[in-house]
Order: sequence, then structure tokens, then C-alpha cells
Amino acid sequence: MSKIRRNTGSLQPDELKAVYAISRVVAEHFEIDAALADIVRLSRPVFIFDNAVLYLQNEDSGGLEPAFARAIGRGKSSRAEISWGEMAAQSAYSTGKVFLKEANVTGDADRLEQAFYLGLPLLVDGNLIGALVFIRFGGPSFTDEQINLAEFIAAHVTQVLEHRRLVERVASLEAEKRLAQMQSDFLATVSHELKTPLGFIKGYATTLLREHTNWSAEERKEFLEIIDDESDRMGELIDDLLDSSRLQSGTLPMQFTDFDLVMQTKELVDRVSTQALDLEIQLYSPAEEIRLNGDSKRMGQVLKNVIGNAIKYAPGGDINIFLSEDAEKIRIEIQDQGPGISKEHIDNIFKRFYRIPDESRSIRGSGLGLYICNQIVHAHQGSIQVRSELGKGSQFTIELPKASQPVKERNGVA
Ligand code: ADP
Repeated sequence: MSKIRRNTGSLQPDELKAVYAISRVVAEHFEIDAALADIVRLSRPVFIFDNAVLYLQNEDSGGLEPAFARAIGRGKSSRAEISWGEMAAQSAYSTGKVFLKEANVTGDADRLEQAFYLGLPLLVDGNLIGALVFIRFGGPSFTDEQINLAEFIAAHVTQVLEHRRLVERVASLEAEKRLAQMQSDFLATVSHELKTPLGFIKGYATTLLREHTNWSAEERKEFLEIIDDESDRMGELIDDLLDSSRLQSGTLPMQFTDFDLVMQTKELVDRVSTQALDLEIQLYSPAEEIRLNGDSKRMGQVLKNVIGNAIKYAPGGDINIFLSEDAEKIRIEIQDQGPGISKEHIDNIFKRFYRIPDESRSIRGSGLGLYICNQIVHAHQGSIQVRSELGKGSQFTIELPKASQPVKERNGVA
């Protein structure tokens, strides 16, 4: 027997108490499964059922899918085989009306095969979003009062779902707002960084072009050198920006080969030493050769950056580089004897565009270098860390697994 019905009826005091407790659950819970579990628990003393199943509309396919199910009474131990009332859910959902289906109970049949279904449509602002189904195995029939109570419960379930939808919507709006803010901060920083060298280039070019001034050959050369340097700086900045956004989106390809880290570091040290004549750069390696499987160009970029920072921010003192390896890892340590980095900044220096405010002011940079280093090292499944003591110096430690493989998934975002 199958019928669709509307009902009226009033609630008993214990039922009212249960409905009140359910309302409180709706107001207090943010976690949907916990809220539904509580609603089912509070409903059960006033409203007998064996199974309670929530079906929700899948936003992509439009079909109904079970989202929550509880087997409480009979059938609890045989969850897999028993009915979960899909048909009752479909009927309530497609008609928007309460659906009842009752089995003909015969004494000797298995009660689990004699299901009584109550399907309740879930409506938000007149739109159907799913259905709630209560099942009783072997009866008894759902009375008008019980159906009335079930409708109250369904209304509260709808409220929990609506609450969750609103919380999710607010979170996604906040995420959108944060993203827009990040994009605008990014653009402001990038334009500021690009404007500085551009300002020099434009200023000196205009000066040279001024018609009524005679610049000496020496002055002209000096201005042209500034234009040349600033154009290089702009080029480097654009490369760094491109690298950083490709690293962030995981689209910077890594070309892994087997190479000798000792040789590569030695060549780099020789090159940068000629540009830093006021300090000594020492390289220590226990072995003549340390083989690394990685992107040699990108790892060279990491070393150049960290050593370059030591030269920039720790001038005067020597720089020591230690290479070592054990069975699993290769370790690179770069020590300087500079001013060090205070605790409040140390966790931030690997973030995109982060520069330590005071001391960096007179030293040029974009705050992208260590961000890029961190991303490249992570793409090698390695880590980069810094230890520092104010007034004594800093030590950057890079650890790389020997059998590293390029990281395929999207790299972390600062
Ligand atoms: P940039 O050098 O372009 O500013 P980095 O990302 O390479 O950017 O470095 C971030 C900040 O970390 C620098 O601005 C600087 O303040 C600080 N820093 C990096 N290396 C050192 C170091 N060896 N000693 C002291 N401060 C450092």
C-alpha cells in the first residue's frame, strides 16, 4: 500500500521537549554530521524508527545521493542488506510531498523485509534540496502525530543544511576577498619594484638627451653604466617574478640530471669571489665529489642566491660553505658572520616579497630570492632552514634526499 498524505496534529509535551532540544542542536552545531547524529539521537525516544537516511541533491548530476544514514533498531547488525529507502526519498523529492509506504505484515516473514517508509521532502525557500527517510521494519504504521513530528524534524535538518551552506558561502566569499587583496598587494609590490629601476633608466636617458647640456665623455659613460645596470636589474626582477609565479603554480619544469655538487659549488664560489673582494669564501667538502640527482641550473640558482645574500647582508666577515653527505641525504651549510636575523623575522624570510624592514632598506632586493630558493629545494623534496644569532651571523642549511625525484604536484604557496 502506498499513499501520499498531508497531516495536521499537535505535539505532546515530551515531543515538544525533543523538538526544542533539536532546535538547540541546530543553533549550536556547525559540523553537519555531528548535528545530524544528535538530531537522530534526540528524535528516537519520541519517534520510533529503525533507520534514518538523509538524501541530498547532487549539484552536478541533479540526482539524489545518500549523505547521512543511521541504523538504530532492527537491522543495525545487518546494515549491508537492509533497505535504505531510496524509493521513498525519490518519491518525496519528486513530488515535494510526504510519502508513506507500508508493508503487509505477516507473522512468519522476516521483519527486515517488511519495511514501513516515511519520506519527507526537504525544502529551502521553496526549492527541493533532498529528502529525509525514516524506516520501521515490521511496523507499526506512522500515525498522523508522528508524521507531524517527523515534519518538524525534517524542517530542522533543512535548517542545519542551510546553515552549513551559508557558512560555506561566507567562507568562500572571504577566500575570494583574501585572494583579491593578495592580488592587489602583489601588483602594488611588483609595480613598485619595477618602477625603481625604470625611474633610474628614464631619468638618466632623459638627462643624456637634454639638448643644451654638454656632458663630458666620463659623465656620459657613468650615466650609460647606470642605465645598463638598472636594465640588468629589471631583467633579473622580471625573471624572478616569472620563476616565482611558475613555481607557485607548479609549472616551472625541472630538468633532473646526475651532477657533481662539489664541482658546481667550486665554480660558483670562484665566480662570486671576484665580485666580493673584501671577504673570503671558503668551501669545505669531505669528498672530492658529491653526486646529486637534481636540476643543476636551479640548484645553482639556490646557492647563488644564499651566498649572494651572505655577501649583501653580511659584508666584511668571511663566508664558510660546508658540503657533506650520508647514506640518505646531502647537506649544504652556508655560514656568514653578519648581523644575523632576529626571531620575529626568521619565520618570514622565505615568504614572497618579505624583506626585513630596517636593515634591507639601503640594500637592494625584491624579497623574492629566498622564496624561490625554498620552492626549488621543495621541488627536490628537500628542505631549507636558517639558524641565526644576532650580532654573530646566520647559517642556512639545505638538505636534499639523495634519491630525489621531481615533485610533480603543485608546490606550496607562501
Ligand atoms: P632580497 O635579498 O631580494 O631582499 P631574499 O628573499 O633573498 O630577498 O631575502 C629576504 C630577506 O632576508 C632580505 O631582505 C634580508 O632582510 C634577509 N636576509 C637574507 N639573507 C640574510 C643574511 N645572510 N643575513 C641577514 N639577513 C638576511
